[in-house]
Amino acid sequence: MIPYGKQDINQADIDAVLEVLKSDFLTQGPMVPRFEQSIAQHVGANYALAVNSATSALHIACLALGLGEGDWLWTTPVTFVASANCGLYCGAKVDFVDIDPQTYNLCPVALKKKLEQAKQEDRLPKVVVAVHLCGQPCNMEAIGTLAKEYGFKVIEDASHAIGGKYQDEFIGNCRYSDITVFSFHPVKIVTTAEGGMAVTNDARLAEKMNLLRSHGITRDPALMTHEPDGPWYYQQVDLGFNYRMTELQAALGVSQMQRLDAFVARRHELAERYNHLLADLPVVLPWQHPDSYSGLHLYVIRLKLDCISRTHRKVFESLRAQGIGVNLHYIPVHTQPYYELMGFKPESFPQSMAYYWEAISLPMFQGLTDDQQDEVVSALRNALAGE
Ligand SMILES: *Cc1c(COP(=O)(O)O)cnc(C)c1O
Repeated sequence: MIPYGKQDINQADIDAVLEVLKSDFLTQGPMVPRFEQSIAQHVGANYALAVNSATSALHIACLALGLGEGDWLWTTPVTFVASANCGLYCGAKVDFVDIDPQTYNLCPVALKKKLEQAKQEDRLPKVVVAVHLCGQPCNMEAIGTLAKEYGFKVIEDASHAIGGKYQDEFIGNCRYSDITVFSFHPVKIVTTAEGGMAVTNDARLAEKMNLLRSHGITRDPALMTHEPDGPWYYQQVDLGFNYRMTELQAALGVSQMQRLDAFVARRHELAERYNHLLADLPVVLPWQHPDSYSGLHLYVIRLKLDCISRTHRKVFESLRAQGIGVNLHYIPVHTQPYYELMGFKPESFPQSMAYYWEAISLPMFQGLTDDQQDEVVSALRNALAGE
């Protein structure tokens, strides 16, 4: 089976992890700050906080932004459930904004419309999570403008987007957002096995997230309620969690970061090959915004169902049967049973549903060979032709 995504581990990665295993610190040593620095530097943000997953990063980002009971978090239905769940963790309510049918990202026009209505009903969101689906950046300039106008905070869920650019700047510099979050799950662009990062330019948000990732405990006298009792002293000044990243993970991350640009470049080569090889097929190819450089975590096609005699499901099943590990990103979150119970109807977000019934993620990862890619394309031809 050719998977849809796969990590790229080389000898340098292995050596880096082994080195940590032989060192004094398996956690809370020098590698985590080094990894944070490498990310902050690469994306152009002032502060980076490594955590054990992007889900944890989203949670502490929401808390740092003051999200709580009675507040609303809005995001796109076409994302992994974590982009929405982080609001529920904080006791907030979650709502969605439909996608733009061209970019598959949260639609700024739909957002504006919903904001106008919410303003009248006095239920404006406190936080909007903008997800850069497949690595293609959202229209952050428009979202940033709306954030100022309507007074909400913005988190970029850039789990798919490290190494990508928006308006010629790396995603993660938080020019139009308060906090950006990255994931290092093995299917993502760079990996630490499990792992995530929150980056920000705001010192107070960074300090708050730093506390929250480790029990709300500080050793910094400036953050304590009184002078330390002695050299052993620490204080718990907030209710935090154990969301820390290990040294093993951070060492892997530092090593992977050296190849980030090469990873994304290879993904672009593969995308161009797909674009060329699939040009004559009854599928919609991923649209790329001219003002962006996608991280290309995913390569999603949409079937032109009017032009083929097979169903979406049959095409998908045929690809799997031919050994192609295609996937579907994502089942719209509002249709999940847990969210259905909150009263969402599938038809509440028609663009997201239309996408769901046509989308297929083809294999896309740095280690995919041209030969394997040809195999994927020929399997897709068969699947569409009904063989
Ligand atoms: C993978 C992913 C997450 C969660 O990442 P973890 O590191 O596995 O917690 C969140 N949002 C999106 C869009 C993702 O793809």
